[in-house]
Amino acid sequence: MKQREIVIVGAGPVGSTAAIALRQLGHDVLLIDRQTFPRDKSCGDGIPVGVTEIVYDLGLKEVFDQEDFYPIDGVCLVSPAGHIYESKMKRGKQGGQAHVIPRVQFDALLQEQAVRAGAEFFQARVKEPIVESGQVRGVKAQGADGLLVIPARLVLAADGATSVISRALQPQRPPDVHRAVALRAYMEELEVRPHQVEFFLHRGILPGYAWIFPMGAQKANIGLGMRLDKFRQQQLSLEQLLEKFLALPFMKERIRGDGRLQDVATWQLNFGSYKRLPRAFDGALLLGDAGWLIDPLTGGGIENGMTSALLAAQTAHRALQQGDFSRRMLHEYERACQAAMWPVMRRSYFVQRWLLRYPWLLDGLIKYARNHPRLAELLLAKL
Ligand SMILES: Cc1cc2nc3c(=O)[nH]c(=O)nc-3n(C[C@H](O)[C@H](O)[C@H](O)COP(=O)(O)OP(=O)(O)OC[C@H]3O[C@@H](n4cnc5c(N)ncnc54)[C@H](O)[C@@H]3O)c2cc1C
Repeated sequence: MKQREIVIVGAGPVGSTAAIALRQLGHDVLLIDRQTFPRDKSCGDGIPVGVTEIVYDLGLKEVFDQEDFYPIDGVCLVSPAGHIYESKMKRGKQGGQAHVIPRVQFDALLQEQAVRAGAEFFQARVKEPIVESGQVRGVKAQGADGLLVIPARLVLAADGATSVISRALQPQRPPDVHRAVALRAYMEELEVRPHQVEFFLHRGILPGYAWIFPMGAQKANIGLGMRLDKFRQQQLSLEQLLEKFLALPFMKERIRGDGRLQDVATWQLNFGSYKRLPRAFDGALLLGDAGWLIDPLTGGGIENGMTSALLAAQTAHRALQQGDFSRRMLHEYERACQAAMWPVMRRSYFVQRWLLRYPWLLDGLIKYARNHPRLAELLLAKL
């Protein structure tokens, strides 16, 4: 294959956002994914206000607004003892709203827009980066016609939590306290709070939570996630933990039908709480989940990931202009990610580590938060 300016591995929301931004800057982009779109991705499907605003910034307001996505305007937190705190969600500067959008739809929309913007899409499974004298010079990928060598001036890794590029470039993984596992399912005939996402800080899951994110009058994305070190210390699987949660009296009351879970899927989450993680290498950048950018409190990763995509596009643009793909040049991406995301990441990590471990404290805080909205804002900052 001929040399490409930019190869992006992974066409999830992060890879597709980077592709759109780089095409808008006039660059040649090859976008590779092992799957064709639409494809599912295990997720709560919570698309926060910040993501809608990024989509608008990409010039996709009309495309996005014409879709019939389920809007969200409130959050409900339920403490271990059942105390409830409700809050309204603010709209973004451009009027953007939060939504619950099945990822199968959301990701396909962005991937389609990347192709419309002129990125070439190629279905192949990337095996590894091509590294010569410490410099990434492209990728090797398994396509329908066999193993291909795809040379590139710069590789952007957006291949998610199990990124082969990330593993090859930094084999040492952050410890388990910086990771989580989560399960997502869909349920119909379930009583939901219309247009409100619910988080249950349930005793058996801390540090973690169960969620119900409504998608319509009686349909929801439902699931739970738990920090990996704590998950390993207990005996139950994620499916069993969810079953236990659904068997709680207040949940049983809400299940109107047979309670069948559909499309159950588990996946891992890479938190951005490990500050020393490198994201820039000679010839390559790590973005989104491949760059460990999920918020360690909320488990939300789409907004941070798309933010990283925009920052990577700016750095890539400058690197291409200067013909310099060294880590020294690309390091500005790492700094920009830290500046944009670390303050919230650090705060989230603090809340997750110190508040989510004591159920009694959460009960007290959630009761207290009803009269102290500033504290609640801190807890809900990135939802
Ligand atoms: C259960 C669960 C619930 C979550 N809920 C939310 C939520 O409600 N809101 C939120 O903001 N975040 C949530 N997250 C986090 C969110 O899903 C991720 O942060 C987000 O998907 C990151 O996007 P990405 O583009 O980096 O990676 P992904 O969405 O994982 O996309 C990576 C892409 O790379 C492709 N790929 C992977 N390996 C290769 C390869 N070797 N070769 C070629 N292609 C490859 C994959 O096919 C995929 O299309 C949740 C995560 C989990 C697990």
